[in-house]
Amino acid sequence: MKSRRTTRQIHVGKVPVGGGTPITVQSMTTTKTADVDGTLAQVYALAASGADIVRITCNDAEAAEGLAEITPRSPVPIIADIHFQYRLALAAMEAGVDALRLNPGNIRKPEHIRTVAREAKDRGLPIRVGVNAGSLDKDLLAEHGTATPKALVASALKEIEYLADEDFEDIKISVKHSHVPSMVDSYRLLSETLDYPLHLGVTEAGPPPGGLIKSVAGIATLLMEGIGDTIRFSLTADPVEEAKAGRQLLEYLGLRDRTGLDLIACPSCGRAEVDVVAVASEAQERLEAAELPIQVAVMGCVVNGPGEAREADIGIAAGRGKGHLFIKGEVVRVVPEDEMVDALLEEALRLVEEGADARIAAADVSAAEVAAADRQELLAIQGDANDTAARRAAVAEAAAGK
Ligand code: SF4
Repeated sequence: MKSRRTTRQIHVGKVPVGGGTPITVQSMTTTKTADVDGTLAQVYALAASGADIVRITCNDAEAAEGLAEITPRSPVPIIADIHFQYRLALAAMEAGVDALRLNPGNIRKPEHIRTVAREAKDRGLPIRVGVNAGSLDKDLLAEHGTATPKALVASALKEIEYLADEDFEDIKISVKHSHVPSMVDSYRLLSETLDYPLHLGVTEAGPPPGGLIKSVAGIATLLMEGIGDTIRFSLTADPVEEAKAGRQLLEYLGLRDRTGLDLIACPSCGRAEVDVVAVASEAQERLEAAELPIQVAVMGCVVNGPGEAREADIGIAAGRGKGHLFIKGEVVRVVPEDEMVDALLEEALRLVEEGADARIAAADVSAAEVAAADRQELLAIQGDANDTAARRAAVAEAAAGK
């Protein structure tokens, strides 16, 4: 992974964005903003699922009134999403939001943008210049023919010029596209052009799994290049899924500390001694409910499982009707197969409470022996999958007709 590109820092409420601070996760509510209780419930659910910042539409006067009740009760900073009517940006600021998102494609009068910038500057609120390929300024579309990366960046630059007329620099920028390669190229071009913090996203990515794949492809590619300061998955799904996915992506890339479960599981193969899909699904459900911030492995056989998953905090591998429970690759307990998920959960809870060294020290002394015997028995039946040199030699001999 490349080192992170240096950007300016802004603050969305209490959350810093850019300037080398941790990359943040954003999501957006899907409720009517005027439904204060419903929107607040969703904001809380998003915050609990990993969102650091939540955006809420401010699309009419009732929405602005709703925001006035929502913002003081929100656990995370609130950004008002503004399209077409600049007066709603003024109303949202009056309602106490922490930042604005303006779409340059549909608030087009420079004097309106300047009025909003003056007010935001007086209140110390940042603005996201949120360019979207689907709603690009008509003049730019005519000039560039289509929503090219250059056209998207030109739209952002034009808006920033209007903001600069008011000495407004408290800015972050997005140039979202629904076509992943165009999205990636747009942000690359933008990051070469300006040093404002960048909000990454693939717009209108669609429902999972396709929407997830598109979002990960675009956002992760840029993050690996050191581009991006805050991210949003735009999924056609419950926004809680967006927040979870955003948070997971950052954790999997090592860009945020682990707060939740990281379940690794083998894909299963002909050596599997158990239904890996069923065991992994049950383990995931129960471990997620326990909210344990650890890496857990579910492996289909004891021949390769404990070795391949030795980096995991804790894991279970199946063999000869038993579950072999291991911590950092060391077998600590052997249990009947139908008790393996129960034992995994119990041991995971104790691991988090007591630490790995204490749990390895408390290992069942006979476990390693039983595990070794089961492994040998399986190896005798199936052969050693790692003995590839001997296998290759046998295949070569057979091919040569020896
Ligand atoms: Fe196959 Fe065992 Fe590896 Fe799972 S751990 S993929 S069952 S060899």
